[in-house]
Amino acid sequence: MIDYLKGLNDAQRAPVLQKDGAMIVIAGAGSGKTRVLTMRIAHLMKNGVDPFNILSLTFTNKAAKEMKKRISEIVGASEAKNLWMGTFHSIFAKILRFEADKLGYPSNFTIYDTQDSQSLIRAIIKEMHLDKDVYKYKQVYSRISSYKNSLITVKAYFQNPELIEADAMAKRPRLGDIYKEYVERCFKAGAMDFDDLLLRTNELLNRFPEVLNKYQNRFKYILVDEYQDTNHSQYLIVRALSDKFQNICVVGDDAQSIYAFRGANINNILNFQRDYDNVEMYRLEQNYRSTKNIVNAANSIIDKNKTKLDKVVWTANDEGPKIRVNRLINDGEEGRFVASSIFENKMEHQLRNGQFAILYRTNAQSRAMEDALRKKDIPYRIYGGLSFYQRKEIKDVISYLRLIANPNDEEALKRVINYPTRGIGQTTIDKVAIAANHYKRSMFEVMANIDKVDIGVNTGTKNKLKNFVNMIHHFQILNKESDAFSVAEAVAKKTGLIQDLKKDGTPEGVARIENVEELLNGIKDFVEGQVELADATGSLAEFLEDIALATDMDKEVGDDDRVALMTIHLAKGLEFPYVYIVGMEEDLFPSAMSMNTRSELEEERRLFYVALTRAEKQAYLTYTQSRYRWGKLIDAEPSRFIEEIDEQYIDWMIPQDDYKYKPLVSPDLWGDVDKSKFRQTKPKKGTPPPSHKPTDEQLRKLRRLRPTDASKEVQKAAPISLSEGQMVEHMRFGKGKVIKIEGVGQDKKAEIDFENGGLKKLLLRFAKLKML
Ligand code: ATP
Ligand code: MG
Repeated sequence: MIDYLKGLNDAQRAPVLQKDGAMIVIAGAGSGKTRVLTMRIAHLMKNGVDPFNILSLTFTNKAAKEMKKRISEIVGASEAKNLWMGTFHSIFAKILRFEADKLGYPSNFTIYDTQDSQSLIRAIIKEMHLDKDVYKYKQVYSRISSYKNSLITVKAYFQNPELIEADAMAKRPRLGDIYKEYVERCFKAGAMDFDDLLLRTNELLNRFPEVLNKYQNRFKYILVDEYQDTNHSQYLIVRALSDKFQNICVVGDDAQSIYAFRGANINNILNFQRDYDNVEMYRLEQNYRSTKNIVNAANSIIDKNKTKLDKVVWTANDEGPKIRVNRLINDGEEGRFVASSIFENKMEHQLRNGQFAILYRTNAQSRAMEDALRKKDIPYRIYGGLSFYQRKEIKDVISYLRLIANPNDEEALKRVINYPTRGIGQTTIDKVAIAANHYKRSMFEVMANIDKVDIGVNTGTKNKLKNFVNMIHHFQILNKESDAFSVAEAVAKKTGLIQDLKKDGTPEGVARIENVEELLNGIKDFVEGQVELADATGSLAEFLEDIALATDMDKEVGDDDRVALMTIHLAKGLEFPYVYIVGMEEDLFPSAMSMNTRSELEEERRLFYVALTRAEKQAYLTYTQSRYRWGKLIDAEPSRFIEEIDEQYIDWMIPQDDYKYKPLVSPDLWGDVDKSKFRQTKPKKGTPPPSHKPTDEQLRKLRRLRPTDASKEVQKAAPISLSEGQMVEHMRFGKGKVIKIEGVGQDKKAEIDFENGGLKKLLLRFAKLKML
């Protein structure tokens, strides 16, 4: 057995060994908070606590999976499997499904994602004939979302003159009406949005004492990671559930609180001592993650914040290289610099792609990075942004599946009722919607009873509606008899969706078919239990829940080796040896939207602290001289955060014409930048001679650079000339050997034994294989 207590220092061991009671661990980044939480769970289990009685709430499902893996190594996988571990949303969705009838919901309720919610709100605004420029649907959505997270129900809203007044002042007097309609429509559709998962859990625990009692008894031990970012709704759930036994352990860092804009409440940390009896407070001070330079630089930044708890963070790790600051001409150059630097570091230190991360303030910045990485043939993965499950073709398939599981799901119905086109026009859809409102039934119910209600459509249209209903019924029967994969495969084939994509014929069309194939593969994996989920049976309902709640962090397909690209918000809790923080410019980071008050600026600074403390060995900061923003090329100014780092931890660098960068030694190279703002460190002895700005000619040359042939090759589908015994490589499954080839022409398939994926049968037309 692993002696897990040995891997902890004294300060970390104390909260692990305290079995009962309320405790809070407040400590800086990289000091082992997550490790303490993990080991505490293992220790509880070692000391006779049943894993069914432990609830652990994490920031992403991926974090939960990693913790479970560590715990499995200590207590064994079969026991660790029984832990309740995951995000607030995933855990409480499971509980709500079980208790749904108490709230008047079906147990197969749909989970609306942000897109669904926004599309419904947009429809409501239109139906109410409101001005869409005043009632911007995204703003209305976030307003409703913040009400829900503050537990302000529709009823509570209308009883609160201040809120009504505030919305009226904001020239949106009908906001309450939209809120009311939205909630009713979700309910009628048997759907909960993300915020409902918390709001309804609160409702459940408040209204039904016997239910509260049941879960209080179940979750005798509760643990929460990243406690500083819990919102009010989450806070109340934790408080209610832990009220009976008060065995609660929360860990967090006020300096990493970065979700105030979404309602996270730092007071949750400050009030913890008030909420429970005899709270033990623990502090950890030693950072194990980063070099001295990184830890000290990060300390020097967070020192600038006025609102903070006093904390010490130090490290016994090496001093490491200083933080490198680089100035680039524009975002294209910035991307090329980062890609080249990653390439050189890989070569020099023999590193894997997965050891690098590029972090940015806004998703839009990823494009320049992607372009440059592709050209250098460096594999990468973007987290966040438009995720796999939000792509049109994927959402189309999923909408069919949702409709099969819950025919009242209106957003799903509207998406697919006439896709692929089957002659059901918008006028007909509107008529069905009006009838549904009138009869207080779902659109699907109206369609299923189209012979009994007169909605003013002709026989031909009626038949089209009937055909659609019959098709869905047919899938529902299949769903009762077989697993999620069979249903999804039938949907892809029988709805005409694949044929429609095939008609397209463009490379994008082919990519969309591949995405659908990838989705089917994913469902197959799920059904075969390769995707681990406690007590899963592979049903369609389970699959839908799983993907509805998968955060962008969780969608790791295979364990291939890629550079990670993500916003700083998503990077919380993670660590990478090499970290590039790009776009260090005023108005971008700190964001122009967050500089109005001290507290907003301090939140941006905490965000920078989070970014920097992700780095283990080396951090790079880059900024550009000009950048396109809102369609205009603007002069960019370096971020004040660069200036706030204690200068002794910084090396100023400048790119040279050949993209080898050397320390800046000549002040003349500052160009337009206000020199007085910056202090330079003296060049070390033996530094190369002064570098020069690239000439225009050299810049033109650089801009002409095109992707290499090698990078194109990966995109190509495999040649059909494969032979048995041949070694190949697949993006997702890794290396493999061709076992058998069958079929001809377009239907040619290969059975391949992959190192990572095991035996797979792939359609050669689609499989992106590289011959080895
Ligand atoms: P963050 O605030 O970023 O979430 P954290 O406080 O949760 O950080 P961890 O992620 O638990 O910190 O730990 C940071 C790193 O240090 C991890 O790689 C962890 O394995 C390592 N570590 C923590 N404690 C020890 C220890 N006592 N000995 C060796 N390594 C440790
Ligand atoms: Mg952590």
